[in-house]
Amino acid sequence: MTDIVKDYLRFLTDQGITQKTAEKTKQWLLASDDILSTLANPLTDIEKKRNVINQVFPKEIRQFMINVCIDGNADRLLDILEDYIEYCIERLGSIRAVCRYVTPLTKTQQDELKRFIAEKFKKTDVEIEYRHDSELLGGFVLNVGDFEYDRSYSTGLKMMHESLKHQTAKHQTGDNTANDFTQSDIISVLKGEVEDFDRKFAETETGHITRLGDGIARVHGINHVMYGELVEFENGVRGIVQDIEKKTVGVVLLGDDRGLTEGSSVTRTGKRAGVGVGSALLGRVVDALGAPIDGQGEIHTTHYFPIEREAPGVIDRKSVSVPLQTGILAIDSMFPIGRGQRELIIGDRQTGKTSIAIDTIINQKNQNVICVYVAIGQKSSTVAQVVNNLKKHGAMDYTVVVSASASDPAPFQYIAPYSGTAMAEYFMSKGRDVLIVYDDLSKHAVAYRAMSLLLHRPPGREAYPGDVFYLHSRLLERSSRLDDEHGGGSLTALPIIETLAGDVSAYIPTNVISITDGQIFLESELFFSGVRPAVNVGLSVSRVGGAAQTKAMKKVSGTLRIDLAQFREMEIFTQFSSELDQATTDLLDHGHMLMELLKQPLYNPQSHHRQVVLLYAATHGYLKGVPVKKVKAYCEGLMNHVAIHASGIFEEIDNTKMLTDEICARLDSAMSSYKG
Ligand code: ATP
Ligand code: MG
Repeated sequence: MTDIVKDYLRFLTDQGITQKTAEKTKQWLLASDDILSTLANPLTDIEKKRNVINQVFPKEIRQFMINVCIDGNADRLLDILEDYIEYCIERLGSIRAVCRYVTPLTKTQQDELKRFIAEKFKKTDVEIEYRHDSELLGGFVLNVGDFEYDRSYSTGLKMMHESLKHQTAKHQTGDNTANDFTQSDIISVLKGEVEDFDRKFAETETGHITRLGDGIARVHGINHVMYGELVEFENGVRGIVQDIEKKTVGVVLLGDDRGLTEGSSVTRTGKRAGVGVGSALLGRVVDALGAPIDGQGEIHTTHYFPIEREAPGVIDRKSVSVPLQTGILAIDSMFPIGRGQRELIIGDRQTGKTSIAIDTIINQKNQNVICVYVAIGQKSSTVAQVVNNLKKHGAMDYTVVVSASASDPAPFQYIAPYSGTAMAEYFMSKGRDVLIVYDDLSKHAVAYRAMSLLLHRPPGREAYPGDVFYLHSRLLERSSRLDDEHGGGSLTALPIIETLAGDVSAYIPTNVISITDGQIFLESELFFSGVRPAVNVGLSVSRVGGAAQTKAMKKVSGTLRIDLAQFREMEIFTQFSSELDQATTDLLDHGHMLMELLKQPLYNPQSHHRQVVLLYAATHGYLKGVPVKKVKAYCEGLMNHVAIHASGIFEEIDNTKMLTDEICARLDSAMSSYKG
């Protein structure tokens, strides 16, 4: 708009010309070509123009017309008027509303409605269109601007139904203080609902889709929506707001876009994306939104937790001091994990990453730990297998499986770990120790990349968006151990990352390595040479777990890492030598024996005392001279022998978690009498 036009508009506003007068003037001008051409012709005498204006136009508008004619801008009269009308509509102007009703509104009700809209939207001119709609059953629905005010009976009934469902669910799962849901309870709940009925008034903000495709919708309208808010599309599918621009917002769809097109309506829910949580989830397999996918019926959750949550602050935390036993000797001895720690499992494909996580879950039986296994971008059949194995070993009773499989849309894969964490946080908030496995975060990053590219975010290194580091750090920061004031719960995370050809220096692996408190590096070469679990002792590390290791374990595993490292070096060094001195041969034999001892078949977690006793035997020379092939059998025999000849010693080790001199002496005497 040019400055001249702006001046005229200001003039018209100052004169108090209404939108209606402007519209009328425009019509008069258009009605007769004569008038327009006379006024617009720069050669016409100004006095003649003044006459025409005085004859044709009402008083209010005359001064304006004369001004335009004198300034010689009469050829733009129509444009100026049009701009002014638009300006009136925008600034002062009118607002249109649609009211659907069942019983026609009385005159006072209509006036009331008009006043309400005028006040709420700060407009002077309110125009309401009334439409009869028997589907509402009663009451009315008002659509004005981006908002919808629903006071219909049909919605009221729906809300009542939801509320009743929620209340009965609470009673069923026993989270409510009242134990029995008696008949009088039902009556009082119903009474309350009926009394409240009239007061229920749903106010929603709506917008409409302007572009749709690839699971992403651009929405115009819902101006007050928040980042991360849940919105609902007219086909019932929900979406999360992931991108906010000046005029539109980008929403990722959490479901099928069937039935949606450009123009379909979108409603704000006012809620941040979240999932239902509660103890009813235990033993179940759910999707990224917490809906059951195991065919075992509805899950009556008791609380709603947002999927994104701020991590507990430093003040609320306690340092890690309780071990989380994986039951895998190689890990518990050298890379101990504490409750509240984040230990990364990293390795190429098919190196036993998932197996370590599953073994750890199985080992939590009777340890009072809740487990959450989040499968991201895996085949459904693989997830089914995992669930089967967990069931077979009785681990499903304390486990929740969250699965967003490879065939699910990217947004599902993106939110799955956050949903899983929300579920885990529920148990943590109840003071429980929780273990969560993210299998795996490489696929999670890929899903996020797909989503971000579709949202037109600028790609960075390896085409990932710039905030991919934050994606994982804000997830893993939520793992912590709370102090007693906050219930003393803990959340231990075992994220998994898949590398390509052992390349730990790629973007995502380096990110997650730097976020976590250590990593267990699995190597294909070791895996294929039969060392399973294929833990690379040199590259693996656990930064905080040492504080959580039991004294007994510390005592027997002290030199293990160095012994193994020396052995690996010596093994390579002596590969081609034929004559070795005694010391070297001893070192090699010891190394081979240790390697054999650390091999462990699947689903065979070892108890704490077994790990301690076996390592004691290995480090005190009781396995010396045993042929490598016979180490396993020898160990079995030794364990039985110790159980008989030092009875009660296993319980003592487990209870005291220490190796006192007295225990060592008893172990020595029992082991030295074992003849294999
Ligand atoms: P993917 O990259 O496909 O996710 P992964 O790294 O998670 O693979 P797993 O699925 O855990 O690897 O294991 C791969 C195979 O190795 C499986 O068939 C499993 O049975 C076998 N395996 C894993 N650990 C052991 C073990 N300790 N002893 C014997 N076999 C094992
Ligand atoms: Mg796997």
